[in-house]
Amino acid sequence: MLRGLLIQEELLEKVLRKSLKNENGESVEINRNLIEKLVLKKLRKKRSVKKYRKYGVSRQDLQEIIELAHLTGLEVFGGLSDFEIIKNHPKWCNNCGKCCRESSPIFIHRDELNPLLLFNPDLKNEIVTNPAYPEHYKFKEDLPCKFHDIENKKCSIYDSRPQVCQSYPLILVEVENKPHYITHLQPDCNYVISLILEKSMILFDESLKKLNSKN
Ligand code: SF4
Ligand code: SF4
Repeated sequence: MLRGLLIQEELLEKVLRKSLKNENGESVEINRNLIEKLVLKKLRKKRSVKKYRKYGVSRQDLQEIIELAHLTGLEVFGGLSDFEIIKNHPKWCNNCGKCCRESSPIFIHRDELNPLLLFNPDLKNEIVTNPAYPEHYKFKEDLPCKFHDIENKKCSIYDSRPQVCQSYPLILVEVENKPHYITHLQPDCNYVISLILEKSMILFDESLKKLNSKN
């Protein structure tokens, strides 16, 4: 009921189809469900169904809002982009280091190679070409990334880390031959959960406003 106040069914179908095209496979489905379950647990504390039951809000409404928050950027509704939101909330990252231990390959676009080498000349020997993506280089060693300081849970080249690391938990995928950022399906990443939770709260409040103005 609530989600229908924010997005037309036809447009939602389109978004869903596009997302399913990006995300295939059993593990993807499992991770997506897991993320949405974790967000639901948190969202129920922030926007309890009990409190909003008088407006006809149900658990299913919360689930649908979370799914929408997961699949779309808020700029569709005139809000901030995922990039802007994560930039405003660096503390959502709890420095668990999972992304630095388990992401591969770490892409470096050819346009960022020179600035990166300027700040880290030693990187020259740590970078190789990436045959799968000719415009990109990659680190020779990842899993874990060679620059992950496990003891201090820090990136040893943090201030000049590659763009792909700066954008995390958003990752670049190709949709209809165009680069497109999506939220990484990583249920263990607090940044991912917090981002989707924040968007869900904003969308929930927005839909409630619309509901109130209708009545
Ligand atoms: S971005 Fe996520 S996975 Fe990476 S260190 Fe932060 S919380 Fe952990
Ligand atoms: S360069 Fe730094 S931020 Fe990027 S994966 Fe390696 S340790 Fe993590």
